[in-house]
Amino acid sequence: MSYGKEGSYPIERASKLGHMKVIEHENVRRLLRQFEMVSPDSIEVPLGSCDGNVDLDAGSPIKYIITIDGGQAVIPNEIRRDKRIAFISVCAMLIRLEDIASLRNDPIIDPRDLTKMFEDRIWYQPAALPLAGIRIPGESVKDTVRHTIDAVLEYSKLYDDLHFLVYRKWNPAYDMNPASNPDAPHMNCLMCEERVYLPKYAYSFQCPNCGFHHRLSDYLGIAQQMPDNWSREEAASSLRNAMETLTLFHFVFRYWNEPKILSQILFLKDGPLLLRAQLSRLIEPIRDLVETIKAAGTKLNLVGVEKNGELVDHIEDIKKHLQKPGDYFLPSIKYMFEEVAGITFDPTRYRNRVQYGSKIVVRLGPDHVIPLDITTGNFCLNPTIADLIGFQDIAAVLSKMVSYSHENALIPVKLANSFSSISQQPSGDILQAFTDKLIS
Ligand SMILES: [Zn+2]
Repeated sequence: MSYGKEGSYPIERASKLGHMKVIEHENVRRLLRQFEMVSPDSIEVPLGSCDGNVDLDAGSPIKYIITIDGGQAVIPNEIRRDKRIAFISVCAMLIRLEDIASLRNDPIIDPRDLTKMFEDRIWYQPAALPLAGIRIPGESVKDTVRHTIDAVLEYSKLYDDLHFLVYRKWNPAYDMNPASNPDAPHMNCLMCEERVYLPKYAYSFQCPNCGFHHRLSDYLGIAQQMPDNWSREEAASSLRNAMETLTLFHFVFRYWNEPKILSQILFLKDGPLLLRAQLSRLIEPIRDLVETIKAAGTKLNLVGVEKNGELVDHIEDIKKHLQKPGDYFLPSIKYMFEEVAGITFDPTRYRNRVQYGSKIVVRLGPDHVIPLDITTGNFCLNPTIADLIGFQDIAAVLSKMVSYSHENALIPVKLANSFSSISQQPSGDILQAFTDKLIS
């Protein structure tokens, strides 16, 4: 916290900082300001503020929580350490609120009984992705990764969800004609890099320029992020994130036009509502779907629980402002940039293509202060509490879900974690057989 109460540090170290001061970058300047701050008087007001209070005891129509969680592990071949493969698992877990209520009445229940209780409410999907030293003879690593991702979407049936999302099938009138809608789904050809527009509702399509055969899975761009001869661990994270997102929206697609059911469900994702790199191609369709549901007068209760990142890093500061249960901190994008990250924010040049929720930190109980992402539909630079769809209902329900198993734990997340964790896989043999089937 404080670098030396004496208010000084060795002169020689100070002079070494001199030339750093010429770096005209806000990030560096902020860093140096923070570094040089020595006297207790100069300690800044803790980050954050209390922007309002939500009634956690208000009734809510939510009866079910569908939690989406994933895990991944990189496994080297025991004998050939240069061969590495990533195992990915994604699960969706359905919890009835009444089950949790009965658990609270019986707080000494064994965690193993708990697991048994929810066993049949789990949808679980494993995948494996080659990382190094593994490819099908005659294929490049990139090809093998492409074909693997295609196979994962096929056998998991998540292909239908990708199809629904990319082609915005909730809106049959969606304009897919590039002449009138240049933003219609398109990508660069994997062979000649020419722009290719996706033909309406196609699972397979050819490049009009060179004839290269593409699959809809190529639109996720996961194989394109990596060099030719090896695959990065990032590819595994991207596939996992794609699977988590498609799993989540699988349930949304099932109920999107059934307002009564939809308003009773809380969709909870373990992690931020964020899609990076080429996966961000799914962001605009997601925002559009949320807006469509909102325009129909229905609420999509969708929340991501942040486990790391800037708000988690500053949670000790932020929680000082949030004294009472229900107190929340709702930062603008400008605040996130300038105060939290310490970088310059230019609203005229900023365009967010990766988030489908707004960030909020809320005190759910005496010991739980949790950063959440809550969906808003169209992106908000300065979100108000009304923009965060279902915030009141979501906060009220989550406040009944706090767990003391570890810091800031929530029961649905903890349950889903225990199911999706790779270490829960039955045995290495089964994993091996599973991989053989998939890769060879
Ligand atoms: Zn081409």
